Amino acid sequence: MDTFCDRLHHLQAHIAETAIRYGRAPEEIRLLAVSKTHPVERVREAIDCGQRAFGENYVQEMAEKARALADLEVEWHFIGPIQSNKTRLIAELSGWVHSVDREKIARRLSEQRPAGAPPIQTCLQVNVSGEESKSGADPADLPALAQAVAGLPGLELRGLMAIPAATDDAALQRQAFARVRELMEDLQRRGHRLDTLSMGMSNDLEAAIAEGATIVRVGTALFGARQKPTGK
Ligand SMILES: *Cc1c(COP(=O)(O)O)cnc(C)c1O
Repeated sequence: MDTFCDRLHHLQAHIAETAIRYGRAPEEIRLLAVSKTHPVERVREAIDCGQRAFGENYVQEMAEKARALADLEVEWHFIGPIQSNKTRLIAELSGWVHSVDREKIARRLSEQRPAGAPPIQTCLQVNVSGEESKSGADPADLPALAQAVAGLPGLELRGLMAIPAATDDAALQRQAFARVRELMEDLQRRGHRLDTLSMGMSNDLEAAIAEGATIVRVGTALFGARQKPTGK
């Protein structure tokens, strides 16, 4: 059986090869290891292999892992749906939040970010799959949301995140990711200095890299299949 380090190195090589295939520099793409539902020992193992950035979907689970690994340099990325009564721990623990999809959440994160902490690196989650997805801002609402978030202390707006509807059709995958890139370019034309496209997971990371992803969020291909979600 492969060790975690084998899988990590294999995935890093695959990301680099894919970048080059599409005319991109491998350094432009960061790997976020999505550790949700996997025990803290697995995260520790990943850290030992040199991985620093981890994605979590559930606030309590992220808090428990952060506490258990407080002695180590870990960058926590919150990537799950955000309920407004759960923002405090997210604001306290996260280096990055990828899933801001409404102004109310952004305001709470801003207010609850501890004084002296660096700003939360923030992506707006956009819904490019219409009714198939409940999370993410409507593309039409992005300009106003970006404007609001850009003005909040404690948050630094970096770009967009999306989870397009799952499909095995590579052309459809690319279409959805291209749309996300176009939405970021539109915000750039409106004066926002954005550099981050958080898109691509285990099954569609090639298409995402082809369309400009700068952070790919990979769970299954690194940690194996997840058991049932742990709930909130
Ligand atoms: C679970 C999850 C991932 C990882 O998905 P895999 O298919 O396991 O790679 C990425 N992004 C988000 C937002 C997730 O919830």
